[in-house]
Amino acid sequence: MAEDDVKNQELMDKIVSLCKRRGFVFPSSEIYGGFNGFWDYGPYGSRMKRAIENLWWHEMVETRDNVEGLDSTVICHPTVWKASGHIDQFSDLMTDCKKCKARHRVDQMPDPNVCPNCGSTELTEPREFNLMMKTFVGPVFDDEHVAYLRAETCQPIFVDFHSVRIATRQKVPFGIAQIGKAFRNEINPRNFTFRSREFTQMEMEFFCDGEEGMEWFEYWKEQRINYYRNKLKFSDDFFRIYEHEKLAHYAKAAIDIEVKFPFGWGELEGVHHRGQWDLSQHSKFSGEDLAYFDHDNNRKFMPTVIETSVGLDRTMLALLGRAYKEEKAATQKEGMDEDVRILLQLPPLVAPIQVAVLPQSKKLKENAYGLYKTMERYFRAEYDETGSIGKRYRRQDEIGTPFCVTFDFDSLNDNAVTVRDRDTMAQERVGITQLRDYLEEKINA
Ligand code: ATP
Repeated sequence: MAEDDVKNQELMDKIVSLCKRRGFVFPSSEIYGGFNGFWDYGPYGSRMKRAIENLWWHEMVETRDNVEGLDSTVICHPTVWKASGHIDQFSDLMTDCKKCKARHRVDQMPDPNVCPNCGSTELTEPREFNLMMKTFVGPVFDDEHVAYLRAETCQPIFVDFHSVRIATRQKVPFGIAQIGKAFRNEINPRNFTFRSREFTQMEMEFFCDGEEGMEWFEYWKEQRINYYRNKLKFSDDFFRIYEHEKLAHYAKAAIDIEVKFPFGWGELEGVHHRGQWDLSQHSKFSGEDLAYFDHDNNRKFMPTVIETSVGLDRTMLALLGRAYKEEKAATQKEGMDEDVRILLQLPPLVAPIQVAVLPQSKKLKENAYGLYKTMERYFRAEYDETGSIGKRYRRQDEIGTPFCVTFDFDSLNDNAVTVRDRDTMAQERVGITQLRDYLEEKINA
């Protein structure tokens, strides 16, 4: 292994271990030995996941007049997936190693003739492997009752295009966004949550006149880059744009936003100009004309689609990988040299806990708990009174809490508290009446 790979592997191991220890992410069905490619989000993980979803939804739907929301079913009419091409084409070429029995995606093997696991050249002939997950709907389990779990959240958006447009009186150009689960029978789930078999997507399909397609593509590309820079605080060396050279036959342009995951560069989001393909296909297969009539110009056309599609699980993994830090720190106890402070430098907007309220002593419980209850109305907050104050700070550092508020004996007299910053460990005295404004300003900075 190259030195970088060792470091990456170490970082990945540390993140997986922290996620388990502190309740971010657990293997699904762990007491049964786990289930490859499936993950449960624990108490802090589910809070962080929801925070990312809310941020994306706020950015893409709530603050825009021309994007509407949708929450469709996971299972839809099987013909949807025929029309989208998934039943016939959504497959990967795979090969099995006869020696170590590992299964690989051929397009991801550095050398397609050699097993990346054991180096053997004894590989089976590559075979097509469809990634759609199947189920049955109704009491009879035969071919006629097969249905599929959605492989992406965008197809129901196309199917509901007219219903949403009519219900909201939107005119093209406008978009429809959805957050939800997607399922893919990945041949080789790996890299923690990066390649899972059940995952969450956040997708937006923007319908426009083909003449304006490239302009809207550039617009959404820029919007999404700004979101990563300004909201998730990605620095320029943390993400890059990959321009697709080989495009699907219907596509006009496509880029991926790639980030430095703990294991190396990988795709986080795709922004794609999909032409008229999606609505045309669903018109053809359903017999419903999904073309748009532009009353202002007395013209009928099939809208062009610009798509932004990001994985929630990958967003969280990218954030955790970038946030993980170990710092040598002086211990609280004299006589010991130093120890290691583990911290997650998460952006406050997506940290699972934004504010921890800690009483200096259990004797101050009543006041501190009351303050926590007030803070909880405005922030994701937590109360902790167990252990020394130093230990409690460390616990919060490890889950990425940007601000710890300590209520001490002086607070009884000066009606102020000490706010400690996770990254600098600097402490500031803040009046309780100003606390909410003070924290809001820092969190939204
Ligand atoms: P990849 O090439 O990595 O398989 P993809 O190009 O097939 O990804 P899309 O179909 O464009 O992915 O899906 C949009 C987004 O959904 C991806 O950018 C990624 O963030 C997320 N995603 C896709 N597959 C998975 C998966 N197996 N596990 C977790 N997230 C995924």
